[in-house]
Amino acid sequence: MRKVVWKRDAIHNGNLVVVNAGYPFREGKNRGNLVAVNRQERHVLLDSRAAGMLAGLMEGLGGWEQIAAVSGWRSMREQQEIYAGSLKENGADYTRRFVALPNHSEHQTGLAIDLGVRQGRIDFICPEFPCTGICREFRKRAASFGFVERYPEGKEHVTGIAHEPWHFRYVGTSHAEIMDRHGMVLEEYMDFLKQYPYGKECYCYRTQERDIWVSYLRAEKEGDTCLELEEGAVYSASGNNMDGYIITVWNP
Ligand SMILES: [Zn+2]
Repeated sequence: MRKVVWKRDAIHNGNLVVVNAGYPFREGKNRGNLVAVNRQERHVLLDSRAAGMLAGLMEGLGGWEQIAAVSGWRSMREQQEIYAGSLKENGADYTRRFVALPNHSEHQTGLAIDLGVRQGRIDFICPEFPCTGICREFRKRAASFGFVERYPEGKEHVTGIAHEPWHFRYVGTSHAEIMDRHGMVLEEYMDFLKQYPYGKECYCYRTQERDIWVSYLRAEKEGDTCLELEEGAVYSASGNNMDGYIITVWNP
């Protein structure tokens, strides 16, 4: 067996962090590099791994010709400005529905992107991203590149955010596919995984090539959390930004 030890802070890092009204964004030490998502919108930045997967998705679709990257990573300050600007321009009700409070926006993680149909005028807060044409094709392929529609219709009571068909979140391929299969949003998925405590149970996701085992490890209340793995196991781990870690093990 080999041991991996995490400091308490590590629960705030990784592709599966939940950032919403209840769980603020915490700047992690291990955030990936931010890179431009494409050549047209060099100011729109994303975590490098998420950007790479998005590039792959778009390449297969010829997507950037018809789809624009509207908003990616945001600093705390930028989120504050967007929030204040929207309050002034659109009022409190609209802003509460569509703009997360500063420090509670997923955009601060670098794992979220707003996309819109490339056209003359693109609404920055609510870009058009319909369920037809190329946007439909994008949605169909999104999970196999690790992206989920983060704020779907009918889940407003869970996410706390209105239906936002333009907002996509990178969570990694296996997790996006599992969430898609069960129709779960990230908050629900994190709850769901709690029934699979690491070392006792795991959720098995089968693909053609391999089995993927997903489980939840509760972080120690104080101090380090220790993970024991079989020798040679291929795994990844992400904090949930709440109280623990999601452990993913690949069985070749
Ligand atoms: Zn967004």
